[in-house]
Amino acid sequence: MKILISADMEGATGVTWPADVLPGTPQWERCRSLFTSDVNAAVLGFLDGGADEVLINEAHWSMRNLLLERLDDRAQMITGRHKSLSMVEGVQHGDVDGIAFVGYHTGAGTEGVLAHTYLANSLTGVWLNGARASEGLLNARVVAEYGVPVVLVTGDDLTCADADGYAPDAHKVAVKDHVSRYAAVCRTPARTAADIRAAAKEATALAGRYEPVVGGPFTLELEFDATHLSEVATVVPGVAPSGERRVTYTSGTMYEAIRTFKAVTTIVSAAVEEQYG
Ligand SMILES: [Zn+2]
Repeated sequence: MKILISADMEGATGVTWPADVLPGTPQWERCRSLFTSDVNAAVLGFLDGGADEVLINEAHWSMRNLLLERLDDRAQMITGRHKSLSMVEGVQHGDVDGIAFVGYHTGAGTEGVLAHTYLANSLTGVWLNGARASEGLLNARVVAEYGVPVVLVTGDDLTCADADGYAPDAHKVAVKDHVSRYAAVCRTPARTAADIRAAAKEATALAGRYEPVVGGPFTLELEFDATHLSEVATVVPGVAPSGERRVTYTSGTMYEAIRTFKAVTTIVSAAVEEQYG
């Protein structure tokens, strides 16, 4: 049995502040260790539960944050970016039985510690077929096309509540409770590691591939914080204006939808100007 861990950083233990997750800052250096502790706890829990293989896919920013040398020797990790499935790279080869979203967070424009969807602040909302979408929801729909269940989600308490919507059966661990976008009531790494390990062990029982879900069409609507960003997004073929600072597009599969999303966010990032956005 093989488990894939998609590891994001904003939802890690003790992380509440932009500098905590911005590569190169002293705070990020410190928080890498906390992030690694959460991920390794999940690795240990899945191995306790009977997994033969655990693969970690780094999913935050440059995707070079976790401390490989502190992970259990039985795990392997995809580090670095530019991967066809981005946050859920590794799920597409037909050998993954379950996926965990570790260190996840809530979506752009909603409450939650460091809430955003892919772009730190240019996106103010993302909707999938009319429903507000977090990275967790989008990635859950992608992995469903490969017949892989989401078995574990960790993050703040609101991330767990969000996951109740897209992965009701998955085990959830709140490593902190939301106070504001940049503040949380945090629990210590020793305590959250124990919680994550125990939940991952239980969650292993949920692993098992099912028939791939064919659920299209998927219509995405994106709202930006500035008009030039929605305008530049329409450079991507198939992406059309849909209201003030909004664009929309429809894809037949989530694979296509997430790749178009990547094209839009890449081109929009290039149009963001310092301070003014
Ligand atoms: Zn994220």
